[in-house]
Amino acid sequence: PIQPESRAFEADVAKLLHLMVHSVYSDKDVFLRELISNAADACEKLRFEAIETPSLLGDDPQPRITVLADPEARRLVVEDNGVGMSRDEMVEALGTIARSGTKAFVERIEAAQQKEGAQLIGQFGVGFYSAFMVADRVEVVSRRAGADEAASWVSDGKGTFSVAPASLEEAPARGTRVILHLLEDAAQYAERWTLESTIKAQSGHVPVPIWLVEKPGAEAVELTDGAALWTRPKSELTKEDYAEFYRGLGGAFDEPAMTVHYRAEGRHEYTALAFVPSSQPFDLFDPDRKGRMKLYVRRVFITDDAELLPRYLRFVRGLVDSADLPLNVSREMIQESPILGAIRKGLTNRVLGDIEKLAETDAATFETIWSAFGPVIKEGLYEDYERRAQLLALSRFRTTASGEGWRSLKEYVADLKENQTAIYYLAGGERERLRASPHLEGFRARGVEVLLLSDPVDSFWVTTLDGFEGKPFKSVTQGNADLALISKLDAAEEAAPETPPSVAEFIAFAKTALGDQVADVRASDRLTESPVCLVAPDHGPDRQLEKILASAGR
Ligand code: ADP
Ligand code: MG
Repeated sequence: PIQPESRAFEADVAKLLHLMVHSVYSDKDVFLRELISNAADACEKLRFEAIETPSLLGDDPQPRITVLADPEARRLVVEDNGVGMSRDEMVEALGTIARSGTKAFVERIEAAQQKEGAQLIGQFGVGFYSAFMVADRVEVVSRRAGADEAASWVSDGKGTFSVAPASLEEAPARGTRVILHLLEDAAQYAERWTLESTIKAQSGHVPVPIWLVEKPGAEAVELTDGAALWTRPKSELTKEDYAEFYRGLGGAFDEPAMTVHYRAEGRHEYTALAFVPSSQPFDLFDPDRKGRMKLYVRRVFITDDAELLPRYLRFVRGLVDSADLPLNVSREMIQESPILGAIRKGLTNRVLGDIEKLAETDAATFETIWSAFGPVIKEGLYEDYERRAQLLALSRFRTTASGEGWRSLKEYVADLKENQTAIYYLAGGERERLRASPHLEGFRARGVEVLLLSDPVDSFWVTTLDGFEGKPFKSVTQGNADLALISKLDAAEEAAPETPPSVAEFIAFAKTALGDQVADVRASDRLTESPVCLVAPDHGPDRQLEKILASAGR
């Protein structure tokens, strides 16, 4: 017989497992949702592959998820007749970090743990690995659709796993079986009542039917019918239905901050159901900037890679179900399809339009969205030329006048001081450091509001836009601050004296001493307390952008 092969998890997976196993988070239920969501994904992937290769379905065409409990043995099985995994796919998917964000994610969990105790861990959607919150041993047996061999994977979640070939008798005829050996304090997950209520509550809208076998030998009962929630009229659906569907997508634990559900008719017919989360997912700043919208054609899942929204809306989760595309739509077709182009445009307008509406009707929810995703939406300011003005109007800022709140540019411009012709900003670093910058002194003395741009993305858009409502953006670290024309709040300081001879002497001295390390030395209106500050020339990159470019080696 072939020996099972033992392997170590990638370092970050091992760390993640350790965190999972030692989690004292009370809401362990999420593991079940994650496993069911994977099973549903596998069924949908098979349905898609079968469009081209119908033989993959064999004599078992109906997708199905079965949950089998064995309370006496404290065992729980989640099985699907989906696409399955080959041995190599198992090693890749369950032993390494498929998602480049895992490292960042582990760091975030650790930070959260230090701050708030272990409570938070279970709230992060961690997919498959969440099984180790309730099990001390997890076995996976899988047979890829169309393959005549099977493989098994097993781990105790302590740093290693092993893979081995499995006999066809012990494997499902097609798809994946996940077997959990439950921890003593997780025994309830082998009880009918817990399973039934948890599955109905968490996975009630998963688009694949779910069956339950309450103990070995018992008959399977259907718990949910796998109907596509998005095809039902809005009037029939409650907020809770939507929230459950959203969480059933996997990886999310929060409430959606905003839900967009509509059917487009006319030239293109499609249904869209999209959610804006209320908190940042851990992979939001992954370099691949992958979107989270799935494409369906007449209820058949096609791909999650169709770029149904621009990258700066990649945090929006959900799906589009098109009635116009052919089922056998190819990758190239997806990229070039004018139908998808039109859907993309319609959906983008709709999502942005609804966020705009929210800003007017429900400021608190809007601010939740802006706090979480503003830094991403602002990428659109330089990427989406067509919607620049719209996005700029939507943007909110911390400013020297905002306190802990947010200000729009419309508000900023409405409060311009007499003779003020520009929108001033200070970019780079943390907000508190920005607030303490000496560059602000002269502005503060005149009551001139300054935008505090602390997101890395800010230095990019702010230098490429012409301005807002005819007012250009101007860095307070750049060139002459032309503040002389704006009166100081404290009139006693008003009579700005001519530069006294001693200052002129000092400037001459500083110029000689610093030589060609500086382009110029000048007396300035912008300081009231600090003796000196560095500024960038009027034209060219501002100080923050200079730093970013320098650190990028340009
Ligand atoms: P995600 O679902 O976000 O990709 P998971 O940790 O939940 O992350 O799952 C990791 C990967 O393992 C999946 O992307 C998939 O390739 C594979 N996988 C997990 N469960 C199954 C299953 N039941 N059938 C087929 N593949 C699976
Ligand atoms: Mg998953």
